[in-house]
Amino acid sequence: MQLIFKFSKPIFKLLVLIFFMLQTSHAQVSFDQYPVYNGNDLGLIYKKEISHFRIWSPVAVAAQLLLYKQGNDDSACKIISLQTSHDGTWHTALNGDLKGTFYTFRVNIKGKWSNEVPDPYAKATGVNGKRAVVIDPEETNPRGWIHEKSPAFSKKNLPTDAIIYEMHVRDASIAINSGIRHKGKFIGLAERGTAASPGISTGLDHLKELGVTHIHLLPFYDYSSVDENKPGRPQYNWGYDPLNYNVPEGSYSTNPYNGITRIKELKQMIQAFHKNGLRIIFDAVYNHTALTERSNFNQLVPGYYYRHKADGSFSDATGCNNETASEMPMMRKFMLESLLYWVKEYHIDGFRFDLMGVHDIETMNIISAELHAYKPGILLYGEGWTAGQSPLPDSLRAIKKNAAKLDRIAVFSDDIRDGIKGSVFDAADKGFASGKPGMEEAVKFGIVASSPHPQVHYTTSPYAAGPWNVITYCECHDNNTLWDKLKLSCADATEAERKQMQQLSLTIVLTSQGIPLLHAGTEFLRTKKGIENSYKSHDSINEIDWELKKKHLDLTRFVESLISMRKAHPAFRMTTNEEIRQHIHFDDTAPAGTIIYSIDGSAMNDSWKKIWIAFNGSDTAKKLSLPVGNWSTAMDTGTEERTEAGYVGIKKYSSIILYQE
Ligand code: CA
Repeated sequence: MQLIFKFSKPIFKLLVLIFFMLQTSHAQVSFDQYPVYNGNDLGLIYKKEISHFRIWSPVAVAAQLLLYKQGNDDSACKIISLQTSHDGTWHTALNGDLKGTFYTFRVNIKGKWSNEVPDPYAKATGVNGKRAVVIDPEETNPRGWIHEKSPAFSKKNLPTDAIIYEMHVRDASIAINSGIRHKGKFIGLAERGTAASPGISTGLDHLKELGVTHIHLLPFYDYSSVDENKPGRPQYNWGYDPLNYNVPEGSYSTNPYNGITRIKELKQMIQAFHKNGLRIIFDAVYNHTALTERSNFNQLVPGYYYRHKADGSFSDATGCNNETASEMPMMRKFMLESLLYWVKEYHIDGFRFDLMGVHDIETMNIISAELHAYKPGILLYGEGWTAGQSPLPDSLRAIKKNAAKLDRIAVFSDDIRDGIKGSVFDAADKGFASGKPGMEEAVKFGIVASSPHPQVHYTTSPYAAGPWNVITYCECHDNNTLWDKLKLSCADATEAERKQMQQLSLTIVLTSQGIPLLHAGTEFLRTKKGIENSYKSHDSINEIDWELKKKHLDLTRFVESLISMRKAHPAFRMTTNEEIRQHIHFDDTAPAGTIIYSIDGSAMNDSWKKIWIAFNGSDTAKKLSLPVGNWSTAMDTGTEERTEAGYVGIKKYSSIILYQE
């Protein structure tokens, strides 16, 4: 003390600063020095006679398990001290049948108790995911689950055979005209025979009729924002705010208080999908947690699961206050075990990784290898970008330009998305399908699935190792719907013209190489009324209005026919860059505003030996030269009267697909 008082104030401040810097760097170094636990029994292992609990917290000096009768409210609890165990874990085993007991953990770090949290590995919780609950896994299985399995989605279940449909659980059924009884619930999507009016099927029947292969649902793990205690209150969220990664969202169940209900009802939905030939994709959001300091991870092991800035604060490449650190062994282990759990327990068929660019390539490839080993036809893809700067170098992260380094994982092509309709960051910007000149190369780049092709000259370098490496799309839940975008960017066009643009856009997506993805309702001009970020908007913005299907049944049927054409013809589903380079030929004489190309179908063993495809994205009719031979029509949204032999006239915003057998 005496020594300190001898220093002048500035020197004292400097010493304090150095002390804290040493502390900070010590803390960061020590993350690497934390022991890694390799066991597979983290969380709860339940048996009727005994329940084992284990958590990992190498920094704790004491740890407790707190048992409750209810998932919320009651404060009477029994506190049990955990015993220190190997590799930074804490363990206890309790005799007797604990089924129905709610529980949390807390740890003591440097003499201070953390908040109570469910363990990050919890598989069942009470309302709002506040407390975990002991369940007997056997009781979560609906009737017939033991024989439940994923349907094949093509002969070989290749990624390029998939046609993905992206939808939100609540949006699908919440509209008054959905004809679905359990509105906004998992089991609403298990209902059959639902219709908005005679002949206008909704929900599961609609998906089946459409012919898509995979239903990608926005997050359905337990997320934070919607208060499960208040089902009557108007509430909505996309769900990109993860709370309990291994638990289904309670607001999608008919009883969020009962730990089993949400699990069983989600399985019922999956069972119904599978029975009707549809596979299911889980929207995986491991890049951040809804809470930062107070998250389940951070209460048990402060700082460990996250990346940090140089000053020790939480880094934020996600725009959500934190970013996880997939390169840390226990985070990597968590992600891998969580994903495998969803596949094994719920029979999930694929994952879409939110802001995948936050994760490191090594982790993604380990995940891919393990998931493919367990389920060969599994489909993996993600957003190859971040929402901010990350301290992990670009070269190590799963971003789009590193796509080719990813093992059997696809990235979204924002190139074809914006090429077709214009930049998502500028509402007024148009794209190829809405008449913007000079967009041909961007769309051609998408047609060849971002692979190197001698006739494509685009500003971005090819990044795909194969068409399996790319998601081809022009609309998803983010940003304006395609229909709203067309309205905002083409205010002068008539509704009929904009409908043609939408039809052209969807035709490009469903005929291009890569893995196509459609946004729910795009087949009948879904609108969110110009709201571009509807993540917490009212149902009236987000709901799928099934009356639109009736109004635009022509377009819906058209999209169905495109899907069935794609499924019937391998020429649209090439599997290597080499095939694309060799068997797709662009017509370099195509007039401005048009794209013409042919596919050598015979090389792909397609029944169509030659396919000729023309898109006119401009606002005027064009005269196109047609290769010699007899052509049959596969798809035609706008042929002008043929005027001369060897030519075909194509109307504005139209497409023509011809073939030779
Ligand atoms: Ca929740």
